[in-house]
Amino acid sequence: MRLRTAVSLAALALAALSAPAAAAPLPPLDQRQIPTQLPRTVRPLEYRLDVATDAQNLRFTGTAVIDIEVLQPTNTVTLNAVDLDIKEVALSGLTREGAPSGASTTSRDIRLDAANQTASFHFKTPLALGRHRLTIRYTGKIYTQAAGFFALDYEGVGGRKRALFTQFEAPDARRFFPSWDEPRFRTPYTLSVTVPAGDDVVGNMPAASTRSAGPGLKTVTFQRTPPMSSYLLFLGVGEFDRITTRAANTEIGVVARRGSGEQGRWALTSSARILPYYNQYFGTPFPLPKLDNVAGPGSSQFFGAMENWGAIFSFEGALLVDPAISSEASRQAIFEVAAHEMAHQWFGDLVTMAWWDDLWLNEGFASWMATKATQALHPEWQPELGRIGGREGAMGQDSVATTHPIVQHLTTVEQISQAFDSITYEKGEAVITMLEDYVGSDAWRRGVQDYIRAHKYSNTQTDDLWAAVERAAPGKPVTAIAHDFTLQPGVPLIRVEGARCAGGRTVATLSQAEFTRDRPNKAPLRWRVPVIAATLGAGPRAAAPGRTVVAGGGGTVSAPGCGTLVVNSGQTGYYRTLYAPPLLARLKTDYARLPTVDQLGLLADTWGLGLAGYQSAADALDLVDAAPANPNPRLVTSVSGILRQIYRAYEGDPRHQALVTRYATAKLSPVLASIGWTARPEEPATVAVLRAQLIADLAGVRDPGVIAEANRLFATGSPLATGGPLRGTITSIVAQNLDAAGWDRLRAAAQAEKNPLVRSQLYRQLASARDEALARRALDLALTSEPGATNSAAMISSVAAAHPDLAFDFAIRHREEVEARVDVSSRSRFVPQLGAGSSDPAMIARIEEYATKYLTPQSRRPADQAIAAIRDRVRVRETRLPDISRWLEARVR
Ligand SMILES: [Zn+2]
Repeated sequence: MRLRTAVSLAALALAALSAPAAAAPLPPLDQRQIPTQLPRTVRPLEYRLDVATDAQNLRFTGTAVIDIEVLQPTNTVTLNAVDLDIKEVALSGLTREGAPSGASTTSRDIRLDAANQTASFHFKTPLALGRHRLTIRYTGKIYTQAAGFFALDYEGVGGRKRALFTQFEAPDARRFFPSWDEPRFRTPYTLSVTVPAGDDVVGNMPAASTRSAGPGLKTVTFQRTPPMSSYLLFLGVGEFDRITTRAANTEIGVVARRGSGEQGRWALTSSARILPYYNQYFGTPFPLPKLDNVAGPGSSQFFGAMENWGAIFSFEGALLVDPAISSEASRQAIFEVAAHEMAHQWFGDLVTMAWWDDLWLNEGFASWMATKATQALHPEWQPELGRIGGREGAMGQDSVATTHPIVQHLTTVEQISQAFDSITYEKGEAVITMLEDYVGSDAWRRGVQDYIRAHKYSNTQTDDLWAAVERAAPGKPVTAIAHDFTLQPGVPLIRVEGARCAGGRTVATLSQAEFTRDRPNKAPLRWRVPVIAATLGAGPRAAAPGRTVVAGGGGTVSAPGCGTLVVNSGQTGYYRTLYAPPLLARLKTDYARLPTVDQLGLLADTWGLGLAGYQSAADALDLVDAAPANPNPRLVTSVSGILRQIYRAYEGDPRHQALVTRYATAKLSPVLASIGWTARPEEPATVAVLRAQLIADLAGVRDPGVIAEANRLFATGSPLATGGPLRGTITSIVAQNLDAAGWDRLRAAAQAEKNPLVRSQLYRQLASARDEALARRALDLALTSEPGATNSAAMISSVAAAHPDLAFDFAIRHREEVEARVDVSSRSRFVPQLGAGSSDPAMIARIEEYATKYLTPQSRRPADQAIAAIRDRVRVRETRLPDISRWLEARVR
């Protein structure tokens, strides 16, 4: 699954090891402790599902025929079910070959347990060991938010349309059919669906048969799937276009609402390039006959795309390129989302984690693999530089007390939903990046190929991957290092001191601590940290940089050459590097000469360490000042992002905000002037991404020239503002600065808009006004039927970006109405997140009150994280901004 938004950059905030002991072989999976929320007396063998939709009334009827195996004698069959009305349950015997045998019995005693999301069927006599067939007739709900079986309404060709889709990860298949809804239960599925004859349907597999089902109706039966987990089943119903191509032995398709299929062309050609790359990388070809990517018009507060096997689902913004609105960044994101979801087709779908504790194995790996595929197929986008931003997002969450280990124990449904966070995704990616670099990319890939081959069509735990990689990289303690970084939380801190040159090499002393923003007296954890060091001028990194593994308290590293020392050279390590002042001074002097990746990494570390109080917060501004005149676009946006953060931190202090504006204008407007507002033919894609981001960030620090130009382009109806890659950027700036009359005009435009993508953007922009009265109007509008069911929550979040206190208080006052507009997987975090951007210490008590009233102790982590973010912001303002104020006052006139 891909989360809704990428985590923003920079949250505010061998020698040393003894030879590893040979790794003990792992016992087979069925002998290990795999958590479950269901009795282990019965397991499913195969499902046949027949579903008839009633889209008009948001209902469906279903029949589930489930072949089961009774493992221990029992009178009761318990499985998962939510919001299902179970009408009839029958049980018959089966021969070993699967033929019905003996009489059928029905259960007269059906018990639903809403809290545990289960249904239990009691039978008068105990069920014999062996195979049986369970037949369940039931009805269910079609939801208006994206969980379970859900509807998305939109203005289509010839009027109002309703399309239906499913979204089951993590625990929502149980809203569609009674099921053993846990990933370790892998079975084949044969799905049949009865729908209006004019509708198109998509499933995991191609259709096997289509027949009439009475006047105006048809029944489509899909081919039987290979054994897979329940959360990967998919169904889409609606009026669709489908465009296709072939890659290797697979038919690749993009499915979108009728009339918009061609907008999927970019995703289609991208997918057709990615699939052969993965066939080769994984060494096991894609196993299904077809792979569709299905576009849904709408959005979720939880996710952007989902890796259903053979039928990826993506919201339109993550899949379709609409020339009216799509930016270069969104084109690149579409590629990257497809690469992520397609990586899951192997890592997640073909081989699946046994339980949600190992969710990161899916998500961290797919995130890492997507970057790798992008690097191979679009090196000109420089995706490897984007990893620094991901690392910062993870460290932001990982350096406060509310963090958790990558592998965490999960027991409740809400905990499982909350596990989709930046630790699981970005820290997971960062740790895999570090381990791949540590063992070497060839050994890593051999390990991954062996792992896929050994475990295909089955389930695993994280240690199965480590064991496979360790076998491929003999002598390297992969499992031990991986355990340090996945079983304990937190960010290592490597201090670098006393670098001296001897015999043409630089030797430095390293010591280990823990990087924390909120627990200065914490006893540090210990990691085995693979460290890479290089000196400036010693040649490319390939020329054998210094490597060591810092275990225990510290060690030394020796790098060839006597130039300025860079630790974490190449930035593949997951740790913060804190240099002694003389070493940092040399880095500042040589900053413009460092490789781009190290410029980004050093700036991120220096900023993070400065905000946490390990060094002056102004050190990062020295680096900003030292950035080269013609920097890499990613470095420009790192700088503009930091300046924007500083501007926001000075909220309520117009004098210092004005200094930030003046500094940012002086530093960055020449860059914008050099690339211009209009794209040039043949310009690099990275420049197109930079243009939009730089304009947005300069507007974010209230650069008067940029705001005036955006308003002028909009007012004069410039083609730059009415369509194309800058449209969203320009209209967003205009929207933030609207007056009441302008807001009314924008609303009229939103009401008239038919394109669902543009329409969603306009409603979000209506909610982005800085004017408080207009923000209140947007909140009221969000609870009407006007914006559409899946735009409301996005509007409230959009208000929270500028007015967190207002949005939070509104959501508390209208809690039930607001929660009804948020998908069930996001509910426990939606309201706390609204308040998380507040700078008002009083918000802490309000979030606390919400958590106490409405969240269980197991599900309150989002509230604790929001509180930690506010505390951090208050601490930064009080203790870290003074350094920055002095720096600005000395530099900016
Ligand atoms: Zn994913």
